Amino acid sequence: MKIQHLQPAFPVARHQRCSQCDALFVIPQLHANQDALCPRCKAKVSGGREWSITRLAAIAVTMLVLMPFAFTESLINIRLLGTPISASLLQGIWQMARQGDAITASMVAFCTVGAPATLVGSLLYLYFGQRIGLNLRPVLHLLDRLKEWVMLDIYLIGMGVAAIKVSDYASLSTGLALPAYVALTLLSLITLIHLNVEQLWEHFYPQPITSPQPHDPAVLRVCLACNFTGMQDERGRCRRCHVPLRTRRRHSLQKSWAALLAAIVMLVPANVLPISIIYVNGARTDDTILSGIASLASSNVPVAAIVFIASILVPVIKILVLLGLLVSIHFKLRHGLKTRIRLLRFVIWIGRWSMLDLFVISITMSLVDRDQLLAFTMGPAAFYFGSAVILTILAVGWLDSRLIWDAHAANADYAD
Ligand SMILES: [Zn+2]
Ligand SMILES: [Zn+2]
Repeated sequence: MKIQHLQPAFPVARHQRCSQCDALFVIPQLHANQDALCPRCKAKVSGGREWSITRLAAIAVTMLVLMPFAFTESLINIRLLGTPISASLLQGIWQMARQGDAITASMVAFCTVGAPATLVGSLLYLYFGQRIGLNLRPVLHLLDRLKEWVMLDIYLIGMGVAAIKVSDYASLSTGLALPAYVALTLLSLITLIHLNVEQLWEHFYPQPITSPQPHDPAVLRVCLACNFTGMQDERGRCRRCHVPLRTRRRHSLQKSWAALLAAIVMLVPANVLPISIIYVNGARTDDTILSGIASLASSNVPVAAIVFIASILVPVIKILVLLGLLVSIHFKLRHGLKTRIRLLRFVIWIGRWSMLDLFVISITMSLVDRDQLLAFTMGPAAFYFGSAVILTILAVGWLDSRLIWDAHAANADYAD
């Protein structure tokens, strides 16, 4: 890893602004195995590791072939009260829509079916679209936002948790489609690791080095949508991806605050109301998130710990970190900036795991369904919990992290 600070530009070097902290520096040409990190905030600004669109498209085709089987065929089989029952992904979502509510079911459907299918569709569109000269810009924008919503890996862990929960009542066996599902999950992970949207932008829409260069590099702006650093075109847009190029994201603080406050409000009913309801011989038992974890802990502590981290610890930490950052922007606080930035990156990375509990509920609903004898269904808290998770993901996405550095710099000028 080599970073060179504002050295004289040689022909292959280019100016770049960091999309996270707005620092301006010069990146030399990178070799295939080199990453460029921002000298101020250590964010990865550019990576040399790219898979060609041909290879990504080949993986996309494999995923496309696996998908119908992995989504519709049985993943887990159980024998419950003498009756064989099998659960597939789509069946779980269908049960959730039928017995619970359609909105929560569509949250699960989006993260497990919608987003992976869109990922596959986008890669194939890029591959074929470049050959026949289609406009690839909307799809490249879409790909960049899609990454954190592909949750096949979390659903796989959810399946494991559901299996352990159900094993108290029933004997389990793996379903026919499980190997296909695991393969699909691994391929999605590989794709997301090797999918470098910024380099795809560079590949499809290369910008000439001789594009207008200002006398003062300070007027260069970075585009948050495609990470290109340059001057606005005559219509005030990014030269590469054609979205309006602004100094800071518009209404970032208002939108981020709104999503965060709504998430905090949603977390109250999410924790107070029952999230799952079990009927045993007609008798109803309600479980909140916490009491569900407590009863799981009595049989399996490690699994209970995973659910506790995903459903309680992560959302709470995420909200506290975001609150801290937003307050620090308003009051221009300087203390612990690096820690807060590190925490923010950590919670962004871990935040999507909060959907785990909803996936567990979806699978368990399609497995444990024996009418009056033994039935499992979701409670009203599921909707509030899912909404809170999605709102926090949006709140982080809408926060322009350069504002944190602006507040820091403003205070530094004042203090020094
Ligand atoms: Zn930076
Ligand atoms: Zn752009």
